[in-house]
Amino acid sequence: MAITTKDLQHLLALIAGDIAAHRDHLCELDGAIGDGDHGLAMDAGCEAAAKAVGALDPAQTAPTAAFNAAAKAFLNAVGASSGPLYATAFMRAGAAVKDKAELSDDDVLRAFAAMAQGVQERGKAEPGEKTMVDAWRPAADAALHAWADGAALRQSLDMAERAARQGCEATKDMTAAKGRASRLGERVIGHVDPGAASAAIIIASIAKFVRH
Ligand code: ADP
Ligand code: MG
Ligand code: MG
Repeated sequence: MAITTKDLQHLLALIAGDIAAHRDHLCELDGAIGDGDHGLAMDAGCEAAAKAVGALDPAQTAPTAAFNAAAKAFLNAVGASSGPLYATAFMRAGAAVKDKAELSDDDVLRAFAAMAQGVQERGKAEPGEKTMVDAWRPAADAALHAWADGAALRQSLDMAERAARQGCEATKDMTAAKGRASRLGERVIGHVDPGAASAAIIIASIAKFVRH
């Protein structure tokens, strides 16, 4: 399966739709342990990224340029912490597929893993600190392991989707070491991290996209 810029336009539109459908829920999660804007931030960022990439001429635009356009649009649309985190993720995905006219399965997997790495390095968060890294890191690791074991792209991303969901669930039992929630100590226990929840939605959208 070769992924073109046209496919990336569809993928970003799919992500934007899935995040929009969960906007209020993500705000509720952030209301419990943050400032309540996470759904609005992710909705604005994903919508802007989808729109910016959708406006490009796919015949004239390489995937790396599409990812860079998504990064810029996301950053400009979002004032919250998730802005620079996802802008970096998209930039890293673009850098991972530099000079490719279309993406092989291996390219898609490397771009996906680069997004996780970008989030982790930009936020300087480790797994276990109750952030979106708790969804992204295990998802990327699961996909990379499945791929190394000979699984196809869609199975590898199905594993990623499951790992992200489990990683998100696991944030319930954690105290936060990064972001706003880190000021609340033990009070955040029992609540899912909103950034991990939106990451699990995005990762599920990517897996769904590759399945179809
Ligand atoms: P803000 O806290 O600025 O309002 P958002 O509500 O958009 O930003 O995003 C909050 C989410 O950002 C958190 O739930 C967490 O997952 C994520 N986050 C915050 N700080 C970091 C960090 N240093 N590294 C990774 N993720 C982080
Ligand atoms: Mg917030
Ligand atoms: Mg905020």
